[in-house]
Amino acid sequence: MSGHIPNFPSELVRLAVWLALLSAIFVPLERLFALEPKSIFRKQIAVDLSYYFLNGLVPGLLLAGPVALMAIASHRLIPGGVAAAISAWPLWLRVCAAMVVGETGYYWAHRMTHEVPFLWRFHAVHHSAEHIDFMVNTRAHPVDLVFTRLCMLAPLFALGLVGPMRASDGVVPLIVLFAGTMWGYFIHANVRWRLGPMEWLISTPAFHHWHHTMGEQQRNCNYASMLPWLDRIFGTHHLPREWPARYGIPEPMADTIVGQLVQPLREPRSPSERASAASNS
Ligand SMILES: [Zn+2]
Ligand SMILES: [Zn+2]
Repeated sequence: MSGHIPNFPSELVRLAVWLALLSAIFVPLERLFALEPKSIFRKQIAVDLSYYFLNGLVPGLLLAGPVALMAIASHRLIPGGVAAAISAWPLWLRVCAAMVVGETGYYWAHRMTHEVPFLWRFHAVHHSAEHIDFMVNTRAHPVDLVFTRLCMLAPLFALGLVGPMRASDGVVPLIVLFAGTMWGYFIHANVRWRLGPMEWLISTPAFHHWHHTMGEQQRNCNYASMLPWLDRIFGTHHLPREWPARYGIPEPMADTIVGQLVQPLREPRSPSERASAASNS
């Protein structure tokens, strides 16, 4: 029973070790190949560090119940033959299939957080960063994270790509989660690398930096996390040769993490919501 109760001190140590490893990789990279030279102690870094620990602890707790339910449902609903056939695929094929299916779920969840005004209130926290570096990856409202992760996991369970089929299947979500997490830090990094023809296949800092640009038209592009060709398929790809001039959102955002956590619950956030609130008042 005690195994189900999170041990917060050991979780904090685990997160601190990961933060040290991430910093050891990305701080030197951002120094050597900076797109825009700046100190790591930039504006809002304390807030983003707080998000790192908050989002390392809270979404996992909130997701545990729904994920267990999805695992049970997939075990009951997916015919045993299908589960056994997928289980028999080689590991590389299951990892590739899980990446494409998970990314497709993520793409549409992320697009909804831009197109549905209520969801944008929460996602605006991520877009409020005015300087982009690897730590902006952690800057997200927990409600936003839980929503997008559920939408990413649901098709994986529904198609039997992850689930309680046999012990070794646990490797697939671990690989997908690890690759996705590391790539999430990379595409936010303040690194001026371009990957040439590889940019068709895999997302880059330039691809995701355009997603953070101040302009609403360009911001509603490049929703994929790792696979930019999904944006080409769904008509939302935008990757010019130059880099964005300004990042952030035109709407005001609270300066503190507490203010940012409660702001989506208190007032209309999107321009369309503010316009409709103004016309109603
Ligand atoms: Zn976004
Ligand atoms: Zn981002």
